[in-house]
Amino acid sequence: MKNLIELDKRHFIHPTSSIQQQQEKGAKLIVEKGEGIYLTDINGSVFIDAMSSLWNVNIGHGRNELAEAAADQMKKLAYSSAFSTFSHEPAIKLAAKIASLAPEDLNAVFFTSGGSESNDSAVKLVRHYWKIQGHPQRRKIVALKRGYHGVAAASTSVTGIPEFWDMAGHLMNDFLHADTPYWEGTEKAIASLRSVIEEEGAENIAAFFAEPVQGAGGVLIPPSNYFKEVRNLCNEYGILFVADEVITGFGRTGKFFGIENWGVTPDLITFAKGVTSGYIPMGGVIVSDSIHNVLKDKSKGTLFHGFTYSGHPTAAAVALRNIDIIEKEGLVANAKAMGAYLLEGFKKIKEQLKIVGDVRAIGLLGAVELVQDPANNKRFSAKLQVASKVVEALHERGVICRAVTYENTDIICFSPPLIMDQLQIDSMVEKLYDAILSVQKQLIP
Ligand code: PLP
Repeated sequence: MKNLIELDKRHFIHPTSSIQQQQEKGAKLIVEKGEGIYLTDINGSVFIDAMSSLWNVNIGHGRNELAEAAADQMKKLAYSSAFSTFSHEPAIKLAAKIASLAPEDLNAVFFTSGGSESNDSAVKLVRHYWKIQGHPQRRKIVALKRGYHGVAAASTSVTGIPEFWDMAGHLMNDFLHADTPYWEGTEKAIASLRSVIEEEGAENIAAFFAEPVQGAGGVLIPPSNYFKEVRNLCNEYGILFVADEVITGFGRTGKFFGIENWGVTPDLITFAKGVTSGYIPMGGVIVSDSIHNVLKDKSKGTLFHGFTYSGHPTAAAVALRNIDIIEKEGLVANAKAMGAYLLEGFKKIKEQLKIVGDVRAIGLLGAVELVQDPANNKRFSAKLQVASKVVEALHERGVICRAVTYENTDIICFSPPLIMDQLQIDSMVEKLYDAILSVQKQLIP
């Protein structure tokens, strides 16, 4: 254990980490094994993985079927290119399968290896689409404040969290952010989006990007009419609407794609994470027939965009098996039912404790806010780090979840595997109650 911690400090630069903190404290958890909703560390301690690791292990850990799908495919054809006119069966079948699951006429898929690549690809695809249609000035991208879309070149700037722009040196030109519907309500958020569009000139805007539920922003579920209004606004101005389903896709919200909760069809969907339940890297962009028809018009030139691993056969085989499990085991319906049950649990906690503000869940994507004064939604001083303390208290009780803290809130996020049952939710909620109570006692003696 000690040796691993020292090697980790010396050689492993962790993603999204405070390097200083890692150097001082070393890795907090070195995970060795995963089974179902549980992770076991190298000391044998068992934890409920209440975040599905990074919102992605939708079918739970340790499913042999996926290991077998990978092994079978690797023995037959581990890798071969899908560039240009080359193709292979797993990617063809996966593209057709995803097209059959995506709403309406979203029928063609471009593959990547993760969410950031998917959003960068979507930025390039929508700009290319407008350019070859004779509107090269339609380059600007509008997204939401507190939205998270990844860390590659363009996706860092689609992201509406300023700390990520700082790391890149600056926010790139032609990326703009409108107000967050969860915080502002539909009317104000739509007015903000309209004013960004009008200030920049609709004729200069390629697309609007949004997560159906803003995950990294703190599980911010928009008001029910927000996306209908977004669709209307995009139609009014001829702007493409890209739904970033990297977290919300593949059953997470109790629908196969999160945007379906609001009866709205986007023009493009970006996905990753749940497509393989994280067993192997994969992502992609689904586009509508009308966009595909423009892109494939041979008079319009070549698509100068593609990754070595676009449509990777082993990843595609794993994704197909993963989707098969989601369908055969009814995990989308389970996420819906268990999400409702989880929300009841959150509500009971809110009734019993003094520092719980808004609680919410849509499918198995939920959050609990911690506030000093629930009646007035007054937050604690940021210095107190209340959300981090609760996450720490949960860790001690064997539950891994995530704190999101920024100017107006302390949020505890939940995104457990879609296989959760009632008993497991009861146990998770009980530990959450204990953890919040222990922090509440420190704050209000
Ligand atoms: N989009 C959303 C909504 C995400 O939550 C994430 C990652 O958390 C990404 C994009 C980036 O995905 P990746 O980390 O696979 O590049």
